[in-house]
Amino acid sequence: MADTAEKTAASEAPQAHPFQAEVAKLLHLMVHSVYSDRDVFLRELISNGADALDKLRYEAIAHPELLVGGAALKITITPDKQAKTLTIADNGIGMGEAELVEYLGTIAKSGTQAFAEKIKDAQGGVQLIGQFGIGFYSGFIVATKVDVISRRAGAEDAFLWSSEGEGSFTIAPAGVASRGTAIVLHLKDDAAEFLEDWKIESVVRAYSDHIAHPIMLADSEAPRQINTANAIWARPKSEITAESHKEFFGHIAGIYSDPALTIHYRAEGRNEYTVLLYVPGEKPFDLYDPERRGRQKLYVKRVYIADDVELLPAYLRFVRGVIDSEDMPLNISREMLQNNPQVQAIRKAVTNKVLAELKKLSETDAPAFAKIWEVFGPVIKEGLYEDMERRDALFEVARFRSTKSDNITLKDYMAGLKENQTAIYYLTGEDAVKAAASPQLEGYRARDVEVLLLTDPVDSFWVRTALGFDGKPFKSVTQGTADLDLIKLKDEAKPAVADDAGTATLIAAMKQALGAKVQDVRSSKRLTDSACCLVNDSMMDRTLERLLSRQKDSGVAVSAPILEINAGHPLIAALSRTVTAKGVMAVEDAAQLLLDQAFIIEGEQVPDPAGYAKRMADVMAKVFG
Ligand code: ADP
Ligand code: MG
Repeated sequence: MADTAEKTAASEAPQAHPFQAEVAKLLHLMVHSVYSDRDVFLRELISNGADALDKLRYEAIAHPELLVGGAALKITITPDKQAKTLTIADNGIGMGEAELVEYLGTIAKSGTQAFAEKIKDAQGGVQLIGQFGIGFYSGFIVATKVDVISRRAGAEDAFLWSSEGEGSFTIAPAGVASRGTAIVLHLKDDAAEFLEDWKIESVVRAYSDHIAHPIMLADSEAPRQINTANAIWARPKSEITAESHKEFFGHIAGIYSDPALTIHYRAEGRNEYTVLLYVPGEKPFDLYDPERRGRQKLYVKRVYIADDVELLPAYLRFVRGVIDSEDMPLNISREMLQNNPQVQAIRKAVTNKVLAELKKLSETDAPAFAKIWEVFGPVIKEGLYEDMERRDALFEVARFRSTKSDNITLKDYMAGLKENQTAIYYLTGEDAVKAAASPQLEGYRARDVEVLLLTDPVDSFWVRTALGFDGKPFKSVTQGTADLDLIKLKDEAKPAVADDAGTATLIAAMKQALGAKVQDVRSSKRLTDSACCLVNDSMMDRTLERLLSRQKDSGVAVSAPILEINAGHPLIAALSRTVTAKGVMAVEDAAQLLLDQAFIIEGEQVPDPAGYAKRMADVMAKVFG
């Protein structure tokens, strides 16, 4: 008996838990560095309350007993001027003891470090907090102490989570409590304004009006609703202001700036559903997460179902918003959703619609589209190798840099094809300016042939699998031989210099001097001004080899290049004469220097920098000595 009594006493006492180190750091920032935009805490806590109500409504589809005896789903804000507390309560899903420890003591998503940087150097950085999945901790911006009383729907026991934001929190049984969660903020002295009705109302109106559940203000008078509480997407298009879109987009994406594109429509026919999607105007922080998760929310008849159903392909993961089906069964299990034929039909139609809207924007408002492409083009281009079915549709929206333009479509490119041009030429690189200066482009420039400059990492991948466009294959200007003979030179007076016996002797000598460092040495068709350049004959061009060789498990190493030399260059001509007169030894250093130079132009490392410097010094000594 004594044993049991002791046990009970022990479990009644508050248990102290340390915060995960990341959380502790974050809290320190909240408490000590955030002085502006403090309002965001209210938005974040209301947003969590709304999520909790959505989750309960969803669970209650399969377990209606969870709702029994509870009042209508709502969020209640209660300011208490005597106690200097502000309470944000919801009668939603609630949290059990283990959930309190896990959800309010650790951080699920990565990216806190990124957030910490933003908050330090960006004005208004705290606005971003919702995006990082750490909104709850914003309570500590205005509170010296936060109490969370929570009872999980369907459970008997309630628990009290409490913390002063200094490294640890406690959890203790809380006796009886109503279903859901109440967050009690013990306000700092300088945050007393959040006890005033006008302040609370203005923050709710600014940030949370669109929350689809009632938000009640319970001051000394009878509680009254202070938001509009209807699903924005269900409203007629003409009645939704840009301001409400901005606010709803902020709620759904955690990005508090105007969306770059809004897509709102109702599909009728075999499947009926409403779509409200936004293309952000800026990069979400997790755009390049390896998970590549989309975050569109699926609703069925205004009931939130899930945000992890693939409603759009991964290459459109930056599109945020809601799809609300009128005819899907409410009681469908989450596991079944992905393979549900209705979901698949919706996915297909909405994907096509998003691409069509992007195309329309590119035609009606080119500058607005250009901004979207600038930010999301590299992601959209993932579709070029993942979504064969829509590759042509994607090619229609894709924009490219080239040797002649900063912004062209493939159609534009095709319109400028030269007589006898058999391919769409491209050069991959890691930097547009450097790529544009590549010697491999010279022969194309001399013939006024446009070359696409592909400088996003993703380009190296799609361009290998894309079969071509409009009947013309894609061809790298740094791979294989240049098939330029049939295309007319711009300046007929400056014909390419033909190889002679001297060139052949030089090539043989260079091969001997360079050995395994090169796959081959040959005379180039693509050079006009430079002495030499590197090309590849293998499956991959050098940019892709470099990209892959940096990835640990790719098993790809940068291969020995082919060194192409320009017979028309004075240096090559001089070397030809030298080798003919004096033999191989006389050009050994020069061969090595030419190869090293070619590496440098490629942005690659010279394999033997000390050797390179020594040879260079020897040559200069001869010239200046
Ligand atoms: P996020 O909302 O992005 O997940 P938060 O820091 O705002 O990040 O909240 C962390 C987690 O805590 C939530 O995902 C949720 O599981 C839990 N939580 C927070 N507030 C509530 C609440 N009012 N009711 C139920 N669970 C909550
Ligand atoms: Mg949240």
